[in-house]
Amino acid sequence: PEKAEIVRRIFVLYADGMSPRDIAQLLNKEGVPGPRGAKWRDTAIRGHVSRGTGILNNESYNGRTVWNRRKYRKSPQTEKRTARANDASEWIFTPAPRMRIVSDELWQRVKERQRQVGEKFDYGQSNRLNTTHRPEYLLSGMLQCAECGGPYAISGKDRYSCTNRKKRLPIDDLGGECCGNSKTITRHELEERVLNCLPAAFYSLEIFDRISKKMIAFETGKLTAIPSLKDEIAKELSAIERQQKNLAQQIQERLAEGRPRLAILDDQLDELEAKREQLARELATVEEPAQDFKGRIEKLKTQFNPANIGIAIRKLIFLARNNADEAAKRRLMPIVRDLIQTVVIGKTP
Ligand SMILES: [Zn+2]
Repeated sequence: PEKAEIVRRIFVLYADGMSPRDIAQLLNKEGVPGPRGAKWRDTAIRGHVSRGTGILNNESYNGRTVWNRRKYRKSPQTEKRTARANDASEWIFTPAPRMRIVSDELWQRVKERQRQVGEKFDYGQSNRLNTTHRPEYLLSGMLQCAECGGPYAISGKDRYSCTNRKKRLPIDDLGGECCGNSKTITRHELEERVLNCLPAAFYSLEIFDRISKKMIAFETGKLTAIPSLKDEIAKELSAIERQQKNLAQQIQERLAEGRPRLAILDDQLDELEAKREQLARELATVEEPAQDFKGRIEKLKTQFNPANIGIAIRKLIFLARNNADEAAKRRLMPIVRDLIQTVVIGKTP
């Protein structure tokens, strides 16, 4: 039941415009234990819409079980079983109302927001490779072979190599020969080298100004979207009152039909009443911070001024370079991918 509350809250926060990252931060700040007692991570909340992973995509919270999500195939050569994801149109749903945690209305609101966010994301990436998915690594989809022009991709142990060469594809431009570029490089080394080039780029471009403006606009946009705790409690309260009315009606109907009184119904009614009282008390005492927008915008402007952005980005680059910190790399992704179009990899001379 407590878990259900958290799940419901995550759905409400997301539907109201909070990002999975901010939700994770909020829950961690409040000390709410995450899945298996670990800290909350945005990925666990966001998941993948198309794969049905993550809290926001868990169909069981919407009272449905999904079947036929994957197709299994046995390779005749290797006898290995491989799983392939089925298209969402092939999924089979069966109702599981007892698993339901969020209302259908809330579920639909979350799906709608995911569509909006997804469209925005696709728009920004539409001229790149890998348009449908969020890039997996810092340089995913940006790497090109100097010899055949083909993509460099991870093969084997976190190591990039030319895909055409690996597949032994004959290349027209090479007169039907296979690509001879045998250069491979570990992901970390390549990412480190690219990150090393960034600080120089910062001096010639007004990138901190640009990011500062973007951040302020983004954060300002979020200001209006802060969900009101009071509204949430009021909503919960009215839901409970509706349930109470329903129950009371059931009890009366039984009475009218001359059927015996059921203790379980009375207990439920008592339980609801206790909850209602508690919520009413909370509603009376909850204090909303004053919505001083002007002041908050001023604060944001100071917090995200170009100098501070510069410091934050340099710190991220340091973490990404020196500690190979994946979280830092992930946060640098939009900046790196904004500055760099393609990285061409050639043979070591
Ligand atoms: Zn190649």
